[in-house]
Amino acid sequence: LKKYWINKLSKKINLLGCSLESLENFFLSINEPRFRAKQLLKWIHQKGVIDFNSMSDFNKDLRRKLVSIAKIQPPKIYEEYVSSEGTIKYLIELDSGSMVEMVVIPEKKRRTLCVSSQAGCALQCTFCATGAQGFEQNLESHEIIGQLWLANFSQNSKPITNVVFMGMGEPLLNFEPVVEAAKLMKDQSSYGLSRKRITISTSGIVPNIDKLPKKIDVSLAISLHAAEDNLRNEIVPINNKYPIKSLIKSCKEYLNYFENKRNITIEYILIEGVNDSIEHAKKLAKLLSNLSCKINLIPFNSFKGSDYKRPSNSSMNSFKRYLMSKGFIATLRITRGDGVDAACGQLVGNLSNSIKGKKLITHKSI
Ligand code: SAH
Ligand code: SF4
Repeated sequence: LKKYWINKLSKKINLLGCSLESLENFFLSINEPRFRAKQLLKWIHQKGVIDFNSMSDFNKDLRRKLVSIAKIQPPKIYEEYVSSEGTIKYLIELDSGSMVEMVVIPEKKRRTLCVSSQAGCALQCTFCATGAQGFEQNLESHEIIGQLWLANFSQNSKPITNVVFMGMGEPLLNFEPVVEAAKLMKDQSSYGLSRKRITISTSGIVPNIDKLPKKIDVSLAISLHAAEDNLRNEIVPINNKYPIKSLIKSCKEYLNYFENKRNITIEYILIEGVNDSIEHAKKLAKLLSNLSCKINLIPFNSFKGSDYKRPSNSSMNSFKRYLMSKGFIATLRITRGDGVDAACGQLVGNLSNSIKGKKLITHKSI
């Protein structure tokens, strides 16, 4: 273990992304007591302090040691946009220079952060702007938790109450860093968010859905979008590898893993003429009849280069009413963030000249 840390330390290690357990190992490896880990977590994630020299309960020697081998470095906010309805979109620059986006959605009682787990995405769902862009890279855990840190501690911020992994990328294809960051979101010494306030959304990476509950207990959302393989193969191509039957089976096993009763969220984008008829609703109701779930209907958000259209409000409402008549909890989400291209599926790591909305700040030189 020591050797591992020494290797890592040859380049200054970024402690921002380390969970409690990793930090405990880190401190033990430099001959410091385990309890330092909790102290450091509190400085970073509760007080927003990232300068070792400001950490008053660390003695001089320890501070000097930390400065020489480690750093705490959040990603950079490159630009910031706000829509008329208050949604804030941030363009974030990673160490590599790649850009990802995160979105803050303020509501009456909640303040939700939508985080990215990858720059781009390899899965190419036909309705998704991120997919159309292709895969660039996985984010490291410090780049994922760094989004929450920035949303909580950068200028004019207010505490985030909920996190959804619904930004760019497929979180279950960047498994370890996502789990490490989610541990930090939950830990009482850092953000202390309960499992209900953290949602991992996946297009259905079956083996990793199976692995997830053994690693961490958070809420799970499945991007289903179609109830038959023929259609889902087309619009969510990963379905060719993990078909609907295996996905539903894995969802049931997921729910059985936990002793307390809970729901999985099923996400279903409504696209005109593709998956929005009452026939489709019937197939969906049948498929989900034995699964403890709630259904989140999402109107398709258009983006440049896509021919799909959002159905009329009345046909989306009929779809929802049908599901409710069959006993499902179904919500039709009023799209937020449209004005700054910050709605679901519109996140592409855009540069300013192609983004709508009012630019708040450009921090290019930080
Ligand atoms: N890769 C993961 C998480 C990111 S996508 C997943 O697919 O679940 C987050 C959500 O945004 C998913 O439900 C996705 O289906 C939805 N989404 C993608 N493109 C969209 C679009 N154009 N309009 C509305 N929702 C979209
Ligand atoms: Fe990737 Fe999710 Fe977009 Fe599909 S919907 S391309 S899985 S980000």
